[in-house]
Amino acid sequence: MSVFVVFETFGETLKERLDIDALEKYVSKIDGVYDTFQTPLLNQKTMLDKINEVKQNGGKDVNSVVAVTGSRVRLEKPLQRAMEGAGLDPNQLVITNVREQCALVHEKAEATEKAKGLVRVAIEKARLSTPLERRIVQRFNEVLVIGGGVSGIQASLDLAKLGVMVHLVEREPTIGGMMPLLGKTFPEDSCAICIGGPRMMDVGNEQSIELLDNSEVEVVIKMPVGYRVHVKRKPRYVDAEKCVACGQCTERCPVSVSDLSNGGISTRKAVYLPNPNAIPRKHIIDPEACLYLTKGSCRLCERVCPNQAINFKDEEKFKDLYVGSIIVATGVDNWDARKHPKYGVQYKNVIDQFQLARYLDGEGPTAGILTKPSDGQKPKKIVMIQCVGSRDPEINPWCSRYCCMAAMKHAEEIKLHQGADIDISILFKDIRAGGKYYEEFYNRVKTNSINFIHGNLDVVKEAEDGGLTVEYIDGKGQRASTPSDLVILSTGMVPSRGTLDLAEKLGIELG
Ligand code: SF4
Ligand code: SF4
Repeated sequence: MSVFVVFETFGETLKERLDIDALEKYVSKIDGVYDTFQTPLLNQKTMLDKINEVKQNGGKDVNSVVAVTGSRVRLEKPLQRAMEGAGLDPNQLVITNVREQCALVHEKAEATEKAKGLVRVAIEKARLSTPLERRIVQRFNEVLVIGGGVSGIQASLDLAKLGVMVHLVEREPTIGGMMPLLGKTFPEDSCAICIGGPRMMDVGNEQSIELLDNSEVEVVIKMPVGYRVHVKRKPRYVDAEKCVACGQCTERCPVSVSDLSNGGISTRKAVYLPNPNAIPRKHIIDPEACLYLTKGSCRLCERVCPNQAINFKDEEKFKDLYVGSIIVATGVDNWDARKHPKYGVQYKNVIDQFQLARYLDGEGPTAGILTKPSDGQKPKKIVMIQCVGSRDPEINPWCSRYCCMAAMKHAEEIKLHQGADIDISILFKDIRAGGKYYEEFYNRVKTNSINFIHGNLDVVKEAEDGGLTVEYIDGKGQRASTPSDLVILSTGMVPSRGTLDLAEKLGIELG
């Protein structure tokens, strides 16, 4: 097999800096070179015509092309297309740049000698490479989406609409994630569940989406045509085929535990519906709270269930999926403010913005009424503290870019729906309202009798009577403080638990 070498002279300009004729003469004597050719401008058509001409004139064993030119960026794709058009393997194209780091930076004689070396190497490379065999390999055409929050839901629905079979794996017993629990969205003040709820239902009704709730990805094995994914489905102890979510089991269950899906501001039973909008709308038993599963006696739920849906023999199930692509949409958790004592999470009347959202949600556990956790009374003076766990080199350096807006949204909601007489202050480092209509939202909230205090939190303290004091360094560097009977921490976002482990399984590098 032999090589065809083409020289691009860039009009005649390259010839002023490089002795192309001498170079061509040198190249034509190299073993394996079938023919050479000079052209003022190289493009797809010139190349295609020339290869066809070479082949018609006896060059049938030519299988490689060396293009002696400038930067490969401009020519690689067009020349490869030309080679394909002429029936050659496009991978047999070798481009050597004799312009930028050769002709343009050396004297002509020196550049010509250097170019000889560069072109000889390119010819050897072309001669020694073997054309690749083209094979059509059918990849697995199903997709795995990990995470059933709003991003994973939307990705699944979009793929299903395109006719792709989707396996949606969600760790929790319901899809939806955090977004539908936030009450309202900013800056439009839209109802969060009105946005998330219909999409959640669409997932439940979509034939092309297999919902694997209460499940986790255990092992991912990369294959030439996609991935084999081993998924574990945790036991529900309630037969989802039989459960009609009548709630009789929940009513009868004697165990109450903190409901973390509401930020711990309410309780739930050991057998429960994850939330009123859960998809799938099926009950589940918490094995760590259930008396029968922990202590071996009770089974009251089993007695009252009209459909014999309780199944204490339920166990882990495993499933292998074969997918062509994986979408990771594992979402976020709130930074855990218990990690630093200055935030005062140990005090009853210190909560975070997620908990506040659950208080303010009309569909939430308090039906939208905000009270102090300590005594159930309406708060009189609220202080919101920004950048909790964010923009702090000792904790997390990043800005979560939503906490400023969340605080302002909640401050306005409190003024509108809980009482204009409630005094609200927002202690901020900077207000970051970087989004469409965010600045307008900020300007609107500022006119709503909400105090913006520029400063850095020092510590939250509780007095013996339960009153709180927020101590801070103000914008002028002076120590200052303000009393409060309810402190709201605007905690930043961190990757959801398990993200590091999952990234390792998937071989994803983290920034
Ligand atoms: S009583 Fe049975 S059918 Fe009703 S919610 Fe409980 S498990 Fe489901
Ligand atoms: S067996 Fe468990 S889930 Fe059922 S009622 Fe008793 S404690 Fe509740």
